[in-house]
Amino acid sequence: MSLSMWYDLFLFALLSALLVYIFFAVRITNLHKVYFVFHFFMMLWPLCQFATHIVQDVQLQFIYVSLSFVASLMLASGWFLFTLFLAGDEKRLSPKSIALLFVPAAVASLGTIVNPFHLFASPTTDNYVDRSYGPLFWLTMLVIAGYFFTSLVVLLRAVRSHSSSPSLKKQIRIVLWGVCALASFAVLDILLNVVLAKFLPIIPGLTSLGIFIADLFFIYVITRYKVFDLVSIAHEDIINTIPHGILVLDEDDAVVEANRALALFIDIKEGDLFDIEELLSSVRATGDSRQFLDHYKRKEQDLFHIELTSNRGGGLHFILQTSPIFDASRSPIGHILTFQDVSQERRLVQELNRQNDVLHERNRSLDRTRLELSQANRKLEEMALTDSLTHCYNRHYLTQRLAQEMTANVEQRIPFSFILFDIDFFKMINDRHGHVAGDEVLYRTAQIVKQCIRSTDILARYGGEEFILYLPCTERKMAEKIAEQVRTAVESNFVKLAQSAEPVSVTVSLGVLSIEDFEHQYVPDNLEEYLTRLFAEVDKPLYQAKKNGRNRIEFAEIRQISDDGTVEARM
Ligand code: GH3
Ligand code: MG
Ligand code: MG
Repeated sequence: MSLSMWYDLFLFALLSALLVYIFFAVRITNLHKVYFVFHFFMMLWPLCQFATHIVQDVQLQFIYVSLSFVASLMLASGWFLFTLFLAGDEKRLSPKSIALLFVPAAVASLGTIVNPFHLFASPTTDNYVDRSYGPLFWLTMLVIAGYFFTSLVVLLRAVRSHSSSPSLKKQIRIVLWGVCALASFAVLDILLNVVLAKFLPIIPGLTSLGIFIADLFFIYVITRYKVFDLVSIAHEDIINTIPHGILVLDEDDAVVEANRALALFIDIKEGDLFDIEELLSSVRATGDSRQFLDHYKRKEQDLFHIELTSNRGGGLHFILQTSPIFDASRSPIGHILTFQDVSQERRLVQELNRQNDVLHERNRSLDRTRLELSQANRKLEEMALTDSLTHCYNRHYLTQRLAQEMTANVEQRIPFSFILFDIDFFKMINDRHGHVAGDEVLYRTAQIVKQCIRSTDILARYGGEEFILYLPCTERKMAEKIAEQVRTAVESNFVKLAQSAEPVSVTVSLGVLSIEDFEHQYVPDNLEEYLTRLFAEVDKPLYQAKKNGRNRIEFAEIRQISDDGTVEARM
C-alpha cells in the first residue's frame, strides 16, 4: 500500500475527530442533525477512497468507488438542504418538497451503484484503482454541480436580503469561502485525475482535501457565531422580539448589536459608529441631558436614564437608558443602550392633565360662584337685619334678639331696660332743608347715639325718626345715665348740611323702661305679645317727655308680668 492511501485515512480520522468535537461542543438541534448527516457524508469520501486502495477484490473496490460517489451525491444534496436551513428558507418548504430535493441525488446514486454496461466506471487494468468514467459519471457530476449552483444562489440571495442580519451575512460569506474551496479541489481532481488522467500521474486525495478545508470553514462559522447554540438562537429571538430598542456598543462606540425594534428610534446598523451627542442634540430632553452625557462618558456602574422626545412617527417619547459593560477585571468595554417607547403613556398622562386642568378650572369657577353667592347671602342677611339709611339694626332684628333673651332674663332675674327716643320737631327739618337733609340728620343722629352706648347695647330704628335702645343687664339707674348721655350727645351734635349755611342740631325726647323687679313676673308663653306690650309701655314715658316739653327723659317701671303676657307698668 502506498503512502497516499494512508493520507485519505488520515483525513478521514481528522474529519471524525471534528465530528466528535462538534458533537460534544454544542447542544443538539434540528440544524445539528442536518449538519451531522452532512458531515458523515463528507467523511465517507476519504474513507471509501482509502478502502478502494486496500481491497484487492474488484467487486469490493467497485462497491467502495460507487459508495464514495453516492456519498458525494448525498453530500451535495445534504449541503443544499443545509444552505436552505442556514438562509432560513426551510420554513417555506413542506416535508414533501424537502424529500423531492433528494430525488436527483437518489436517481444518480442508483446509476452509480448499478453501473449498467460500465456506463458509470470501468477498470482500466484489472482493478478500480485505475478506472475510466462513462456518461453516468458525468451525469452524477452534473447533479452534484446542479446542487452546488442552486445552493450558491440560495446563499447569495440570503447575503443580499435585507431581512438577513449582518451577523448571518458574515456567516454565509465564510461558508461560501469553504464551498468555493471544496468546489475548486473537486474540479481540480476531475481535471487532473479524470480529464488529463492519460497524461498525468494520479494525484490522490484532492477532493478529500477540499472537503476537509471546507469543513474547517464550516466549523469556524459554527463555533465563532454559535450557529447551533440553542441559547444564542433563543437570545437573538428574544432580543429581536422584545418591543424595546437595544443597542450594544463596543468601547469605541461602534455598534456590535442592534435589534429589530431599534429601527423605531434611530437609524443605525451593526458596524456603524454611534454618536450619543448627535442623538441628544437631535431630540428634546425631559431632564438634564448634560448630566446623562456625563454619566455615559464616565462609564459608572449604575444605570442612568433620560426621557427624550423626537419627531419620528409624529412625536416619539422614549426613555433612553445607558449601562456600561464591564469585563472580568471590571474595566469598561462598551455600553448597552435601551430605548423604551413611552409615547402612549405620555399621551395618556397629557390627556389626563388636560382633563384635570379643565376640572380645576370648573372647580375654580364653582368656588368663585359659591363665594359670590355667600357674599350676596351675607349682604342679604345684613340687609334683612339692618336699616339701610341709618345703618342701625332694624326692628325685625331687635324683635328676634329680644325673643331669644327675654326668657333667660325673666327666669334668671336679670334686669334690662329700653330707651325709646324720637327726634323733636323733625318735620321742621324736612320742611326747612328738604328730605335729603332730613335723611342726613337721621343718619348723623344714629351715629352719635352709637358712640354713647356700650358694645352690648343694641340700637335699632323703631320707625320714622324714632329709635329704640335695648340695654341688657341694665337697671334703671344705669339706663337713666345712658339716656342722659344720649340726650346731651344729640343736643350738642351739629350736623353740617349742604343745603344750609349753618350747621343744624336736633334734640330728642326719651322714654325709659327698666325691668328689675321680678317678684311677680312669669315667663310669658307668647313672647311676641309680651314684646309688643313692652314696646307699648316704653312709648308711654316718651309720650310724656314730648308732652312735658321735649328734649327730656321720662321713666316707667314694670311692676308685674302675668303668664298670659299682660304687663303692668308704673311711671
Ligand atoms: P315731634 O316728634 O317733636 O312731635 O315733632 P315731629 O315733627 O318730629 O313729629 P312728626 O311725627 O309729626 O313728624 C315726623 C316726621 O319725620 C314726618 C316724616 O316726614 C319725617 N320722617 C319720617 N321718616 C323719615 C325719613 O326716613 N326721612 C326723612 N327725611 N324724614 C322722615
Ligand atoms: Mg319727632
Ligand atoms: Mg315720631
